[in-house]
Amino acid sequence: MSDDLLSPRPSTPAHDHLAGLNEEQRLAVETTEGPLLILAGAGTGKTRVLTTRFAHILLEGLAWPEQILAVTFTNKAAREMRERVSAILEKPVEGLWLGTFHSLCARMLRQHAPRLGLDRQFTILDADDQLRLLKQIMVAEKIDLKSAPPPQLLHHIQLWKDRALLPEDITAAHDVDFMNGRARHFYALYQTRLKELSACDFGDLMLHMVTIFRRYPEVLTQYHRRFRYILVDEYQDTNTIQYLWLRLLAKRDTQQPANIACVGDDDQSIYSWRGAEIANILRFEKDFPGAKVIRLERNYRSTPRILSAASGVIAHNEGRMGKTLRPGLEGEEGERISVINTPDSDDEARVVAETIRSLHGKNQSYGDMAILIRAGFQTRPFEESLMRSGIPYQVIGGMRFYERAEIRDGTAYMRALAHPADDLAFERIINVPKRGVGNIALSKLRQNARDRQLPLQATLQEQLAQGMIKGKAAATLSEFMACFDRARETLAKQGHVVAVEQLLEESGYLTMWREDQRSVEAAGRLDNLREMLRAIGEFATLEEFLEHIALVMDSDQLQNDTNRVSLMTLHAAKGLEFKTVFLPGWEEGLFPSQRSLDEGGQAALEEERRLAYVGLTRARERAFILHATSRRIYANWQDSIPSRFIDELPDEHVHVSEPTRKQNAAFGKSFWRRSQSSPASTTSFSRPLSVKKQIIVPLGATVKHSRFGEGVVLKADGERLTVNFEEAGMKTIMANFVEVVS
Ligand code: ATP
Ligand code: MG
Repeated sequence: MSDDLLSPRPSTPAHDHLAGLNEEQRLAVETTEGPLLILAGAGTGKTRVLTTRFAHILLEGLAWPEQILAVTFTNKAAREMRERVSAILEKPVEGLWLGTFHSLCARMLRQHAPRLGLDRQFTILDADDQLRLLKQIMVAEKIDLKSAPPPQLLHHIQLWKDRALLPEDITAAHDVDFMNGRARHFYALYQTRLKELSACDFGDLMLHMVTIFRRYPEVLTQYHRRFRYILVDEYQDTNTIQYLWLRLLAKRDTQQPANIACVGDDDQSIYSWRGAEIANILRFEKDFPGAKVIRLERNYRSTPRILSAASGVIAHNEGRMGKTLRPGLEGEEGERISVINTPDSDDEARVVAETIRSLHGKNQSYGDMAILIRAGFQTRPFEESLMRSGIPYQVIGGMRFYERAEIRDGTAYMRALAHPADDLAFERIINVPKRGVGNIALSKLRQNARDRQLPLQATLQEQLAQGMIKGKAAATLSEFMACFDRARETLAKQGHVVAVEQLLEESGYLTMWREDQRSVEAAGRLDNLREMLRAIGEFATLEEFLEHIALVMDSDQLQNDTNRVSLMTLHAAKGLEFKTVFLPGWEEGLFPSQRSLDEGGQAALEEERRLAYVGLTRARERAFILHATSRRIYANWQDSIPSRFIDELPDEHVHVSEPTRKQNAAFGKSFWRRSQSSPASTTSFSRPLSVKKQIIVPLGATVKHSRFGEGVVLKADGERLTVNFEEAGMKTIMANFVEVVS
């Protein structure tokens, strides 16, 4: 870099951004040259150091913003880092190479895709599309899908991709005990088909870039010249291909060591099931000779008690690098961890909602609280109890917004609009709502398209023009295609927001939900679609929006509302912090998961324990651990015993409490009669009784629903109520969605 690039220096007082860092943190920020590994426990300021380091490099004039490559684990973390960097620099920053591995790779690939014979405008497929595609290939090859389930094949393909293996790299030794060694053949077919569709799956984003770096050294050199500094957060969770990508970018031919700084914590490695390799941390010093290692030992996030409790649990793991962790600031010990036993999982959700309400009454904002669950199915009772209590919340991860059917459909409409050759998207919506296209007609269309080597949309247009489609379908499909034509015109004239809304309206998609009889669900879906339309408006083009949603990860959200309780999986909570954290479902078989107990042996159990450590260390001031005596898992009630992790908590930091009957009564109204009363267990760890219960709401009762307002119960069929709402009219809903008013 020439000297004039280095000036003028920003006017910010020198080193202001370093104030407030401790000595080690400061050293980690200022050691800008050469390889650096920052190895430290939860809440020690690793992410803060990385962010400050970013700003420091800019403030010191060591590089331009575009010359820094920063990898975060989620888009949310990237956004936070961008905000913090612009706050330190006191101006907005643009054009940063800052994001997740996948979003960074997508950006690179947009530029270099043609080198692999791929269109620059490639589509990024979601899991649904991947499966549909694989299924089509397998059916065409006459594979019995029962003996070789597509999801299983997809899983193998993903693991190969995570290990940077192309179809041609896979030898018999790599191949798996699946489909008699023919899995790699299908991997090859799948890749070919993706290319024909001009599409990538998630794994391809990284795989293609690593392939390009390996085959075209000049591309790699271009990036070597560009990136003077590389920063990586959550390094303990990188998998093989991410590691290769980093190493290719960081290792150059020159003698000059790379300026790569990675931060990580071996105790928080929770993604080995996705191929993450903790060994990547261990070999850092070998890969980058002369690497400095800095340890941060002071935790600034949690109270001493939370810290001791978390340390007590993780100490039970044997495979650890071992670290010291002590409170960063002098202060109160803090509250003990509350361990609460409830009779069943619905009570658990009620206790949490009630506690949230009471904390809110004591001036704690909803945004300061989070419920962290182990498994996606735990979401529902919490959603219900929060809704019933009128507590605003957002679900992050687990049930991802973008995985909801209506959002998938909406996105497919947009993709078919923006990319007329996107067959997967088009197939998803051709018959949604029903347009009278049967399976036979569809496979004929598909065959015809394949023979002519044309996309489905173009083929259908032709078939319609030539009168090859008869009957009712001819009229509905002509109208369907006309909708796209009109929406494309609108797109050109009035922009993408109006065009998408028009398309969803005219195609009958929105009407389909409006007329849906299962009204509660449908209303929620319409809300989600509205939210999606709002979100599109935040992007300059449809392309940008589609790219964004193709890349969002677990803990990303359309809307980042600070006044909502967050509900998410432990995995999605990595790197985040909240004043109060609720950790429900600490029961054997749920957490640790049954799977880790059945098949995983010691390693899998240790990973579960690291997850417990991650969960506890998200809390700044207060942590509640809950376990239910009887849990509803889908339709069944199951007895459960407390998690071994509860036993591992040091006694002196724990307060065991049980909601008394009186408290319980406060959670439900007296109307909520039970067909069987719930026996509250006397000691929290005793072997519980299973309880079956049903909510009974009397006819004529006035009930309140979060969306429909108040109404009168006219009919009750078990828990299914028919309610005449004052404003929303007649609806059939489940009893647990309403609150009895009188
Ligand atoms: P995790 O392992 O969970 O990702 P981390 O090591 O990245 O945690 P940070 O999130 O960077 O930790 O920091 C934890 C909290 O401590 C943040 O609220 C941060 O602002 C605060 N913090 C970090 N360093 C200091 C410091 N020197 N003084 C005061 N607060 C600090
Ligand atoms: Mg962090």
